[in-house]
Amino acid sequence: MSDQKKDVEEKALKGSITLNEQRCKGCTYCITFCPTGAIKMGDKLNEKGYTMPALVEPFLCTGCDLCGTYCPEFAIRGYRLNKKGED
Ligand code: SF4
Ligand code: SF4
Repeated sequence: MSDQKKDVEEKALKGSITLNEQRCKGCTYCITFCPTGAIKMGDKLNEKGYTMPALVEPFLCTGCDLCGTYCPEFAIRGYRLNKKGED
């Protein structure tokens, strides 16, 4: 990818997530309540053997943090990015 294209794509990102892998219980609430479909169940297991969510459509994430609001384990958090694609 060219630097120019990468720069344009980074500016288009509105939000992202952080995931505390140890806390996740794989309940899928975050996926159910995500209004944009940005996250889906991934194929990675954590140390406890739970499948975890993954940000599969990063451009759909708005950083609204509904995933974090509904996560019973406080494992996931959504956050908004500024125009340069930085936290
Ligand atoms: S921050 Fe909002 S849009 Fe992004 S994954 Fe969480 S619920 Fe979905
Ligand atoms: S709601 Fe929390 S515990 Fe449940 S799958 Fe999502 S991140 Fe994991």
